[in-house]
Amino acid sequence: MCSLKNNNSNGYLRTDLYNEEATEQLSGHYKEILQIIGEDPSREGLDKTPERVAKAMQFLLQGYQMDPVEILTSAMFKEDYRQMVIVKDIEIYSMCEHHMLPFIGKAHVAYIPNGTITGLSKIARVVDVFARRLQVQERLTTQIKDCIQDTLKPLGVAVVIEAQHLCMQMRGVQKQHSITTTSDFTGAFEKVATREEFIKLISTKLS
Ligand SMILES: [Zn+2]
Repeated sequence: MCSLKNNNSNGYLRTDLYNEEATEQLSGHYKEILQIIGEDPSREGLDKTPERVAKAMQFLLQGYQMDPVEILTSAMFKEDYRQMVIVKDIEIYSMCEHHMLPFIGKAHVAYIPNGTITGLSKIARVVDVFARRLQVQERLTTQIKDCIQDTLKPLGVAVVIEAQHLCMQMRGVQKQHSITTTSDFTGAFEKVATREEFIKLISTKLS
């Protein structure tokens, strides 16, 4: 029934297929939702919609099935490098927990290793695991920071997220272009000079 599969090469769970039971239950509820909003779920265009939405939601919220600590520890190496490591412009596709509407943007993550480094792609994956859950941008920022800090135990972690919230753009105040920025820092990044270097590096475009 449950078709979540352990992707061994990466050492963490990935939603390769959809959970049949969840798909069936969700489809039933989405069919009802279509009726309640005044649609006819039996018309041709909507025939398969409940099932598609059910699968889309499982895809968009697949982060619940994944363990970010496992992702980081699956590629940890001893290394003497003690300078800033920055992964910037990591795409974020998350869902706000208040309206279940997307918020979309970019995360910039840095850490200063203290004897241990991780694969760069693992940082991006950790961001994705937390983003693919119902979130508020503030908590997403802090969870990424805490996970890297607690797992790699570096000299410091910095996380900045810039995102546009569809719940703000499509409804409510309808602010079409406003961008929300959140940031969180530990250790060495609490020093103004280190933080400023990080901010400068993520703001500079390499030509
Ligand atoms: Zn919202």
